[in-house]
Amino acid sequence: MKIGVLALQGAVREHIRHIEESGHEGIYVKKVEQLNDIDGLIIPGGESTTLRRLMTLYGFKEALQQSELPMFGTCAGLIVLAKDIVGEEGYLQKLDITVERNSFGRQVDSFEADLTIKGIEAPVEGVFIRAPHIQSVEDTVDVLGIIDDKIIAVRQGKYLGVSFHPELTDDYSIIDYFINDIVAKA
Ligand code: GLN
Repeated sequence: MKIGVLALQGAVREHIRHIEESGHEGIYVKKVEQLNDIDGLIIPGGESTTLRRLMTLYGFKEALQQSELPMFGTCAGLIVLAKDIVGEEGYLQKLDITVERNSFGRQVDSFEADLTIKGIEAPVEGVFIRAPHIQSVEDTVDVLGIIDDKIIAVRQGKYLGVSFHPELTDDYSIIDYFINDIVAKA
């Protein structure tokens, strides 16, 4: 499979490494035309205000709203996929969820956790860095993971979103899940 990583801002190289470790081809996506050459797209973590600004500037907002590609958003990427963002306007609106930004405290409160994720057998290692959480979901959405009463992983058909950074660990279970259970079956 050819999996693109939106390469405008954020933890791009780390996702490329995860894709390659999973035995697939990772593509740095910098131009909208490249969306035609990939089977799925990862929207990485970083800073979602900057990310959204750059996506609009380079034509990705419109292109992705119209795209049928499977997508996986991590952290800021989850915010980008959400229908609603507390206090702000939703952006791509692919996931019927409301997210709240920075809901696990400040940068110094970044933490690592072993997570139970529906559909994945072993605990999944995740790094939370100024992470958002999912405040509410519509019934179109499957909740995959919760920590401290906060929803941190969801799936809606071919769209997957998590609050944390799986790509900063050597745990490849989420990328495998995205590629094998979502992209390969789309
Ligand atoms: N706090 C960032 C935001 O709201 C997300 C942080 C991250 O992606 N690690 O955009």
